[in-house]
Formats: sequence, structure tokens, C-alpha cells
Amino acid sequence: MSQKIRGVKGTRDVLPIDTYVKDDDPWLRVGHYHLVEQATRDLFPLYGYREARTPILERTELFVRSIGEVTDIVGKEMYTFDDRGESVTLRPEGTASLVRAYVEHNVSQQEPETRWWYLGPMFRRERQQRGRYRQFTQIGIEAFGSPGPRIDAEQIELLDRWLRGLGIPFEMHLNTLGDAACRPRYREALQAYLRSRSAELCEDCKKRVENNPIRVLDCKNPSCQEVAAGAPRMDQFLCDPCKAHFAGVQDSLGRLGVRFTVDAKLVRGLDYYARTTYEAIATSGLGAQSTVAGGGRYDGLVKELGGPDVPGIGFAAGVERMALLLAQKGKESATHPLVFIAPLGDAEAARADELAQQLRAAGLSAEVSFRKANPGNQLKRADALGARFALVLGDAELKAGRAKLKELKSGAQHEVSLASFAEEVKKLTESLR
Ligand code: ATP
Ligand code: MG
Repeated sequence: MSQKIRGVKGTRDVLPIDTYVKDDDPWLRVGHYHLVEQATRDLFPLYGYREARTPILERTELFVRSIGEVTDIVGKEMYTFDDRGESVTLRPEGTASLVRAYVEHNVSQQEPETRWWYLGPMFRRERQQRGRYRQFTQIGIEAFGSPGPRIDAEQIELLDRWLRGLGIPFEMHLNTLGDAACRPRYREALQAYLRSRSAELCEDCKKRVENNPIRVLDCKNPSCQEVAAGAPRMDQFLCDPCKAHFAGVQDSLGRLGVRFTVDAKLVRGLDYYARTTYEAIATSGLGAQSTVAGGGRYDGLVKELGGPDVPGIGFAAGVERMALLLAQKGKESATHPLVFIAPLGDAEAARADELAQQLRAAGLSAEVSFRKANPGNQLKRADALGARFALVLGDAELKAGRAKLKELKSGAQHEVSLASFAEEVKKLTESLR
């Protein structure tokens, strides 16, 4: 045998069967993803969001300019390579790409308000842990052209409804980061405070004090958290327009009946956020990587990327973390064949193919066995597939033109005519429902 080729570290296969996953990460099946995706496609259009698909590959400059040079993502996590003289990067997140597309296609000239959602793989070269991978999936939304604060609240309500609908236990956290008018003063005050306690900070945070001090508030290191607890708070520095915006968001959330906690320590890792930030944090089941979704307002970003001065706000959710929570609850969408057909000989095999074709033409799912096995083993296979009915087709059935359709769960046998097989199966499923 040749040597096996393994998948790349930090990536994972998601199959329709159980697989053994190392590092005590629970199994994920594709049915867990389908459940999340289905809920997305059902819900997001109800709020006017339409799907946008952008490439996985973008020019590196896009992320450097939008996410910010001194962030962890751009500093050390991007998969960047030279493509014959041009630097390109596998996208580490979705917002920058959607904003690029929004600007490139002059969307603001065609519509004053735009709402897009997206779904797809993202890439960050992080340390692999439970709930943290190097290729992961995000689902997100972006709203352009709405200055808020009602849109902020509407997005948070969408996120709340989506997660609750899936049965995910979480808490909604809310904060404001101020804007270009008031954040610089806060940043200075924070920096002065952090410098005075620099000795207590972790190595990463010592650097953050100088280039991204707000990020220190977000560090998971216990001694950094202790320092953060005593830090000056953004709310003491907010300018009047930012105060009014934040009050407006909270009023709207109250009217919409969304529960939330104001969390002064909630900051986001990317540079482009302004004013409202929010996060849905799982209350159990995820351990340290408990943030399911994070979002916020990025009013300067469209302009920063060469577009008009159009405000924006959005969130991104980690699908693997959502899928892990669903897996723990045993929830997934399943696609089982309705009828499993097992022909015993060659003449029966040809007939089995036709019967399956007729079922599918009638919109019913069928799976034919293409291998020879005795009836007992075929029934076991039908059971393992989760089929509702099994049809074992032998010489006698072919001659009589009639056969017994076995209902696997109850063991009941239904006599059916092969000449009108699809219609009879259809009637049977309707009457047994
Ligand atoms: P974290 O605190 O987990 O590092 P982040 O601030 O880097 O999150 P965002 O960039 O806001 O995350 O991404 C939004 C969501 O995408 C996260 O809340 C998380 O659910 C998911 N996510 C981010 N990075 C990863 C990863 N490496 N693997 C799996 N999911 C991820
Ligand atoms: Mg991160």
C-alpha cells in the first residue's frame, strides 16, 4: 500500500457518517451544518437580506487596509502567497470582501440601503483548539446605508431569533466603542493606565498597549483580565452623538423584546468597528471558545476602501461552534432514503433500477443496492441507512408482479403492485403519516 496523505492541520472533514476526531473535539456531521444553513435560508430573507457570494481569494491589501496592520489576523494569521508578482490572501473573514464588492459594483448608486448575507469558509493560521480551526465557516450579514440605531437593534434581534430558533443557549452582550470623535481620547487614557500596569500584562498585551490597547480588554489571560477590570471605561468618554446612538439601540431592543447585557469590556479584534458592538456568547457547551457570533458597526470602512461615505453594520457567526452545540444536543437534519430496494438476481436488478427511477420521478427518494447479499443482510443495510421501507425483490415477486414492502420501524408488511409501485408508495406514505 502507498502511504496515506493526511488532511492539513487545523482543517477537518465533515462527512455524513460519524468519524473519529482527535484532540477531544466532538464529532461533527454534515447534518449539523445543514440545520444551521437551513435556518439561515429560512430566516434571513424575512429581514430583507439577500445572499452574496464573493471569492475566497482576495488581494492581500484588502485585508491589510480594512482589518488593520496591527491586528492578530493581519499580523500573523493570514494565508498569504505570491501569485506571480501579486500578493493574494485566503480571506480570513467576510466583511472586507463584501465591502470591496459593494464598492467595486457601485451598489450605493443603485440602492440607498443594501442588506446582504453570506456563508463560506474562512482561513486563519491560529493554534488549533476545540472550536478553533484554520479553515472554518462563517455565516454573516452586512447592512449598508442605514445609519441606525434601529438597524443595529434589528440585526441583534435577527441574531437572537436565529440562535433561539436553533435551540442554542446564549447571552447577548452589547457595548459601544465610540467613534472617531471620542475614541482617541479614550484610547489615550486607556494607554496611560495600561502603561502604568504593563508589568502585569502578558507578552502579547505588552505589545498591544502601544499599537492596539483596546484589544488588551479582550485578552483571556487571567492577570490581563485583572488589569482590564480596573481600566477606564469607554462610557465615561462617549461624545453626545455616540451616547444618543447607544441609548437608541437599547430603546429599540427594549421595544423588540430582546434581552441583552451591557458589557463594557466587549471589544472586537478588528480595527474598523465604531459605536455599537455585540456578541452572542454561549452559556454552556463550548468551553473557552464560547463566542458564537460577533458584530458591530463599521461606519468608516466603505470610505476607507475607496467607496462613498456610507455606514455599515454586520455580524459573523462561527458555524462550527454552532454545529458543536447542536451535535451535543443530538440535533441535525437527516436525509434518509424513503425506500431501499434490494434485488436478489440479475433480472430483478434491472427491474429495481426502473422502480427506483419511477419513485424519483414522483419526488420520492430511493436507494438501490448494487451489491449481492442475502435478504437478511440487505434489511440490515436498509435499517442502518435509516430507510423507511425496504423492498426485497426476488424471482417470485417479479413473476407475481406483487411484492411486500417492509416498514422498517414497525416491521409491518404492505403488499404492493409493482406495476403501480410509485403511486402505491406515495399513497402509503400519505396514509401512514
Ligand atoms: P475569537 O474570540 O473566538 O477569537 P474573533 O473575534 O477572532 O473570535 P470574529 O473574527 O469576530 O472572531 O469571527 C466571528 C465568529 O467566527 C467567532 O465568534 C467564532 O464563532 C468564529 N470564528 C472565528 N475564528 C474562528 C476559528 N479560527 N475557528 C472557528 N471559528 C472561528
Ligand atoms: Mg480570533
